Amino acid sequence: MEIFHVSAECYPMAKVGGLADVVGALPKYQSKAGHQVRVVVPCYDTKFKRENEFECVHWGNVKLGNFDFPFSVLKETTDQLGYELYLIEIKELFDRPNIYGYEDDIERFLSFQIATLDWITARETVPDVINCHDHHTGLIPFLVKYAYKYERLKNVKTVITIHNGLYQGWFGFDKLHYLPEFDLIHVGFLEWNTAINSLAVGIKCANAVTTVSPSYLDEINRSANGLEALFNQVRDKSKGILNGIDIEIWDPSKDQMIVENYSVETFGAGKQKNKEKLCEEFELDPSKPLFSFIGRLFEEKGGDLLPQASALALSENFESINILILGSGNPDIEAQLVQLRNDYKGYYNVFIGYNEELAHLIYAGSDFILMPSRVEPCGLNQLYALRYGTVPIVRRTGGLRDTVIDFGDDGNGICHDQASVGDICYSINRAVKLYADKSNFNKIIERGMQTDHSWERVCEEYIEIYNLIIQKNEV
Ligand code: ADP
Repeated sequence: MEIFHVSAECYPMAKVGGLADVVGALPKYQSKAGHQVRVVVPCYDTKFKRENEFECVHWGNVKLGNFDFPFSVLKETTDQLGYELYLIEIKELFDRPNIYGYEDDIERFLSFQIATLDWITARETVPDVINCHDHHTGLIPFLVKYAYKYERLKNVKTVITIHNGLYQGWFGFDKLHYLPEFDLIHVGFLEWNTAINSLAVGIKCANAVTTVSPSYLDEINRSANGLEALFNQVRDKSKGILNGIDIEIWDPSKDQMIVENYSVETFGAGKQKNKEKLCEEFELDPSKPLFSFIGRLFEEKGGDLLPQASALALSENFESINILILGSGNPDIEAQLVQLRNDYKGYYNVFIGYNEELAHLIYAGSDFILMPSRVEPCGLNQLYALRYGTVPIVRRTGGLRDTVIDFGDDGNGICHDQASVGDICYSINRAVKLYADKSNFNKIIERGMQTDHSWERVCEEYIEIYNLIIQKNEV
């Protein structure tokens, strides 16, 4: 089967969060299973782009109303990724260091989608499936079906995978003329609450909708930033598929980014060495349990609860726990977290920013990982933590509910129900007791490390959906 994945992120080319990890891994395992898989992302000015070789395989011009943007399609030539990676180079729009956050993001991702389809249309073969990811690619299912210039792709099946339904990419109808021409009879597909809502368009027009965990699919039928009714309508073509992880990149026995490799047989000594390194770097006490957080510092992740929860937990467990935070996001949360350093010197620290290597070291060297998320479509941190022998402390929501079971129920982690300071501290106190009970603690670590969350198992579920929509052959 010939499959295209179109996405705003793909690790190692461009990463902000879990979307990149999924689009960097799922295609690799689909390729291994014998499919022809191509990944298309915008050409940002990233380290990966600067350090690797590319060849131009196509060029053209995107017309966005009165604007004209020349584009090239660059293919990564070393084939080191396990799938073919293509970058859409539109210098004026994407030759910038950040992936998101610019005033012209709508124009950027519209141009990206149009350039991608222009190129796919011009290719010799027509793919079987285009798998779109999140709102940045949500217009593709509409354009494939209704834009005159993509007539050749009319029978290509489309899937939209929702990694985060909070962000929807909406814009006013004053930008309608940016889209390639289509029969206006179909304009209703573009509209949701009087605006063009890219994610809603994808959900309406794709042949199938997937979310990154089964629980998240249930939750967005009740709460989805205004799209609940739509999710209810498309329930029949929707499926929740739990994300896997790339077990080659995330492997504590081979990981080059940590100081000591270890396996389920040697995690005791191995994790301690990594913990010592972390504690040395961040002036913490390696003889005390280490609780860490890695992620975007926003309310959806429970980031706003972290300053108060950290302060309370550190006071209640005076000089007997460490807390380390890695992340960036809301400036107020960042400032509060930095401020806390003064009060709990030697037992608390924070690194504001994005740092892939440090994240690996934290998964390896921590005893517990905190995930007090309000919303968590799947969550990858807990899966990496489990694999690295770090016990996840999670709020039961979305994919966290599907992957972490409380140790009181013979599970692999610690769970609470409310995204609140009280619940987080209560869980930390339970964790402190668990940490002291070494044989039970080690049993839980072993259980976590032995769980199979590899894509090998999961990627077949995507193929089943592709096969289903190809067989149905609905227009
Ligand atoms: P998200 O909602 O942000 O996509 P996920 O749990 O699905 O959350 O994925 C988060 C991914 O991003 C993980 O690979 C995590 O290690 C990584 N990550 C998040 N924040 C940082 C950071 N500040 N530095 C390094 N890695 C980070």
